[in-house]
Amino acid sequence: MKPKLFIPGPTHVDQEVLDAMAQYPIGHRTDEYRELQRKVVEGIKECLYTEQSVLISTSSATGLMEAGVRNLSQRKVANFVCGAFSQRQAEITGICGLDQDIFAVDWGKATTAEQVQSVLSRGDYDLATVVFNETSTGVMNPLEEIGEVVKNFPDVLLMVDAVSGMLGAPIKVDEWGIDMALASVQKAWGLPPGFAVMSLSDRALERSRSIPEAQKGFYFDFVRMHRAGSKYETTVTPSIPHLYALEVQLDRIRAEGLENRFSRHRNMARLVREWGVNRFGLFAQPGFESDTLTCFSNAADIDLISLVKKMRAREYLISGGYGALKGQTFRLAHMGDLQIEDIEDVLGVMDKVLEEL
Ligand SMILES: *Cc1c(COP(=O)(O)O)cnc(C)c1O
Repeated sequence: MKPKLFIPGPTHVDQEVLDAMAQYPIGHRTDEYRELQRKVVEGIKECLYTEQSVLISTSSATGLMEAGVRNLSQRKVANFVCGAFSQRQAEITGICGLDQDIFAVDWGKATTAEQVQSVLSRGDYDLATVVFNETSTGVMNPLEEIGEVVKNFPDVLLMVDAVSGMLGAPIKVDEWGIDMALASVQKAWGLPPGFAVMSLSDRALERSRSIPEAQKGFYFDFVRMHRAGSKYETTVTPSIPHLYALEVQLDRIRAEGLENRFSRHRNMARLVREWGVNRFGLFAQPGFESDTLTCFSNAADIDLISLVKKMRAREYLISGGYGALKGQTFRLAHMGDLQIEDIEDVLGVMDKVLEEL
């Protein structure tokens, strides 16, 4: 038996979704393929509350994190950092040679709308990068409020790393003014890794048109991706198994109902927090705790390496801290296709293992 995944990616995958992937490939320039991509892309648009573009990418999310800054800025990027993944976004921006300023808060704190407002009103930026759900700290940033603030700055595009939040909590792309929201599918989408999806606003597409190809490269040029996408094709050969899996997953999401899916995530989060808040303490700033994963601090000073190991022996995979928080925190994911019963189960086992430590 493989251990059940309670780490924040890759996450648990239901058998029905796995089975969908094991199909004989079809040609990616056929009507049958275009119909598959059409269903998937239109389904993703519903999930993101957008009537603008949705693009798909055979890559992990980090590919789109790089693509975003290369396609969407010609002046200066404001990178908002509150943990390891938003820091990676800032690092990528620098490596790509773009002009940038980095605005970091202490890990565990949120990027707030007030901070974004004050930064954007001081600098000459054309792109702001924000993480929705900071997977390293268990902080969910107030995306709707941040979106409202960015609307005050017509030159500034808002790019959101929504990797571990998308489909676990609402992201109203059009209403909130999000120009790009990206995610890989091995988090709250509940698919195996290897594929990523993104929304792209019309004005972001316009921006990409004005950026030299030498800056954007070929594989991740949004103009090329959009041109192919408008015929329900991709520029390169896509991971067709992932499209089969997404087709099935979108049907399942529709059957559950988006709102129900989000409230299931909220309920799982509440259960996990109530279980551990007094024993360990929550790492996230109060009021900004994530709906999709919980990061506990180690107030009780337990042996986290043993905890993870003993859980692994019982076929449950949980996560020690990420990056600089290794050994100081542990994380439990409650996203994707995990159900309340799975959470009750893993918490019961944790109780037993903690007694043994
Ligand atoms: C997992 C994660 C990433 C990286 O995603 P990959 O698919 O591994 O490239 C980026 N940002 C956040 C917030 C994540 O949780």
